[in-house]
Amino acid sequence: MIRTKLKRLKIDDVVNDNTESFMIPRFLFESKINSSSKIIYCFILESGKNNTYLTIQDISNLINSNVNTATKYINELIEQNLIRELNDTEKYKILSKKNLDNLGIGINVCEWCHIKTTYLHKHHYPIKKSNGGIDTVNICPICHSEFHNRLFVIKE
Ligand SMILES: [Zn+2]
Ligand SMILES: [Zn+2]
Repeated sequence: MIRTKLKRLKIDDVVNDNTESFMIPRFLFESKINSSSKIIYCFILESGKNNTYLTIQDISNLINSNVNTATKYINELIEQNLIRELNDTEKYKILSKKNLDNLGIGINVCEWCHIKTTYLHKHHYPIKKSNGGIDTVNICPICHSEFHNRLFVIKE
């Protein structure tokens, strides 16, 4: 790993604070992929260290672009085998480990995070409705929307 200035990645035009620097793996620094894709990789790498996951919306905010542009860079990273999306089982495991027992205000309890909520959503799991799934779970709107996000991790 080498520490490099964003400037050296030529992305100072997309990040306001160009004094910030990122740890970038040498192979990535030297690779020919788009410099915005490189900085997105760095954001995903950093976020993974804190056990957090970035959505396409987060990524487009971070690089100051729109969702379509961010998606294009994300797809380049996926095609280059540098990152991958979390799969449904991984998302379920993360969401159901939140341990929010007894927190919240409603009389309904989310089957995954156990928060007390005024709203539950029926969600097809483990098999998507579009794949013929009939089993559903009753989960809170937060677990539900987070599940339907595309989330990314560094490909090992
Ligand atoms: Zn929940
Ligand atoms: Zn759903």
